[in-house]
Amino acid sequence: ARESIMTPDEPDDEKDVALRPKRIADMVGQREVIEVLRIAIDAASKREEPLGHILFDGPPGLGKTTFATCIPREMNVAVQMASGPALKAPKDIIPYLTNLEHRSVLFIDEIHRLPKAVEEYMYTAMEDFRIDIVLGEGVSARTLNLQLKPFTLIGATTRAGMLSGPMRDRFQIREHLGFYSLPELTEILERNAKKLSVEVDAESAVEIARRSRGTPRVANNRLLWVRDFAMSKSDGKVTLPIVDRAMRMTGIDQAGLDRQDRRYLETLIRVFSGGPAGIEAIAHTMNVSPDTLVDEVEPFLLRSELVIRTSRGRCVTAKAYEHLKESLADLTDH
Ligand code: ADP
Repeated sequence: ARESIMTPDEPDDEKDVALRPKRIADMVGQREVIEVLRIAIDAASKREEPLGHILFDGPPGLGKTTFATCIPREMNVAVQMASGPALKAPKDIIPYLTNLEHRSVLFIDEIHRLPKAVEEYMYTAMEDFRIDIVLGEGVSARTLNLQLKPFTLIGATTRAGMLSGPMRDRFQIREHLGFYSLPELTEILERNAKKLSVEVDAESAVEIARRSRGTPRVANNRLLWVRDFAMSKSDGKVTLPIVDRAMRMTGIDQAGLDRQDRRYLETLIRVFSGGPAGIEAIAHTMNVSPDTLVDEVEPFLLRSELVIRTSRGRCVTAKAYEHLKESLADLTDH
């Protein structure tokens, strides 16, 4: 949602799917996670059992859905995709559970937003591959105990901390996806430039990577925007001056922060004297939801040490003042 509001470079679903790796071997980075998964997939395949349930957590755009679509392909099984907020009651999850095939995968995105009743309904499904279905109403109601096909649940969450203990404990594999390094993002950009048949020189790929907040989805969005910019303003070739102009136009600074990121820092400085300030107060002042800030804005600012979280609230660091000064000078010059 964020990219579509802040920059004109949100790829439509088709482009996103086109750039999404199909196999784990096509994924860049996350070496340790991939190593664990390969062993688990190999062992489960040899036993002809379903893979243990897997939980991925980490900020948006780092590959949770990509893993959830690559894993079933490696196992040669079907996958069903569901989303936590759309499953409002246990009856909403029943069709997914009864559609399962032996060893197939059920992916639930934003699993931390499953209502409590649905979450509790999933416990026996995950543990014993069984569910109770209530047929009829009132005195004539009876409960049917249904055996499910052994399956794998893959959950994705931006907030591992919001998942209840009993839910978390039912995942055999829990992996955190972290931000990508500059060489990894550069590699992703070079591969995707080829897929899109757009000429991007080596230093431009590094520059786009540098401005992508450690996030493959952001890198892809930036690439698509720079490609359009090069095509419209020049001969279609992506060079350093083109990247610089395209980024400048959408307010993306040299560290990759966009207008919303800087607005967060500026609000904290201007309204809250640099902090500490509570997330609700910051969100209210900026007129955005606290969830958006916590899920999409803060992770990269925290990891860049522009913001710190203390028990009394968020504070900017000296580095944030420095960064804003440089960014302002850079974006207004030319
Ligand atoms: P999440 O589910 O964590 O929000 P996605 O899996 O949807 O993130 O990733 C967003 C996009 O980023 C994908 O469509 C894909 O193109 C790209 N991407 C993510 N992880 C990788 C990776 N490890 N290697 C290459 N591209 C990736």
